Amino acid sequence: MIGLFLLLTAYATVAMAQTSTVVINASVVNVRTGPGLSYDVMSQVVEDEKVQVITEQNEWYKVRISNDQVGWIASWLVDNIEISAATNLVGTITHPEVNVRAESNTDSDILGTVTEGTQLTVLFQQEGWTQVQYYNQVAWISSSLIDVKVTPKQEATSTVATENDAAAPIQQVTVRTDGTNIRSGPSIEDSVVETAFKGDSFAFVEAVDDWYLIELADGTQGYVANWVVDLSANNEAAPTANITNISEATIVIDAGHGGHDSGALAQNFYEKKVTLKTAKLLAARLRSAGANVIMTRDSDEFIELQDRAYISNNNHADAFISLHYDSTETRNEISGTTTYYYHEEEKALADLINQNLSQYGPLPNNGVRYGNYFVLRENYQPAVLLELGYLNNDTDQQVVNTDNYRSQIVEGIYQALNQYFTP
Ligand SMILES: [Zn+2]
Repeated sequence: MIGLFLLLTAYATVAMAQTSTVVINASVVNVRTGPGLSYDVMSQVVEDEKVQVITEQNEWYKVRISNDQVGWIASWLVDNIEISAATNLVGTITHPEVNVRAESNTDSDILGTVTEGTQLTVLFQQEGWTQVQYYNQVAWISSSLIDVKVTPKQEATSTVATENDAAAPIQQVTVRTDGTNIRSGPSIEDSVVETAFKGDSFAFVEAVDDWYLIELADGTQGYVANWVVDLSANNEAAPTANITNISEATIVIDAGHGGHDSGALAQNFYEKKVTLKTAKLLAARLRSAGANVIMTRDSDEFIELQDRAYISNNNHADAFISLHYDSTETRNEISGTTTYYYHEEEKALADLINQNLSQYGPLPNNGVRYGNYFVLRENYQPAVLLELGYLNNDTDQQVVNTDNYRSQIVEGIYQALNQYFTP
């Protein structure tokens, strides 16, 4: 009976600690100081490692890793064992001044003090002690000094830094372009309350759908679209994504044409079908490497050009790859592949892809060219457009619509992106 009782007690503690555990499913995953690629890498976790999820924000998980540090990992790099929506525990300090300790005993180091009313994320409780998140680490508070309650998810995410924690980092929202509208509500239908300029920074309050609520200079609040700003951890200027591995990249794959727009026609196949087959294969290859892949279409569907560019901009794509096959007015005029870019800073990516296409693909290489295509011009993310062969060229036509050609081309694009995202 005693044995059974101990077993049940132990089980209860473990169950609470593991209510939301995830398994890493990419070879190496960076743990960052905040929920985005712009935050510094503080540690790494490896494939099959299990981490405890504390909360979730913008497709990132705040996790506790094995050395008791707390950081953020991209949710698309892990497999959920069990994520429970009701596991957000928040503790409120009930005494005027309470010590925060490194371990669950009164002899251990004091990491700091918190004052009455301060709210902290609770990880779990055992033997009279409550484990909490204190800045980026795990700490302990005597359970008699903290009142623990389950709170709805949205509230729990913003309770880590309270007014009482004067030293807690304040996230900044930095505007990317002149003339950015700050609105009275989280949609483009809401009225403009202020216009901001490139480099302007505001204190981040909370995320509402695709919008950030920010604090303006006069103390009032307004909303700005999250795709036109950068969110940082502190007062530094706008951060840039510092990806160190393709598994951290968001890649948008754009299968050209679709639906009533067939694209180039050959005797027995349509461009829209060949681009979709190629896009699906490329998506699978990139996903197997851990990348976050978004397809502008994954069926025979018509998608407006502005929607394709919007998908890239709105998801802050780290690369946008538009796939096409070509034809010419006169049969057998041209053969081979061509890589197009629009913005000068995209030439490096275009060069890299083109080199790899020529290395992995069997067709002649027509090099890298400037191309005034809508999906490149209206795209503020690194974007290239690939013409992967001529459907009305006798040589190209024999190879382009084959599984073998598609796997060669996909491997070339994958290798190029892998190099591009490895510093
Ligand atoms: Zn096309």
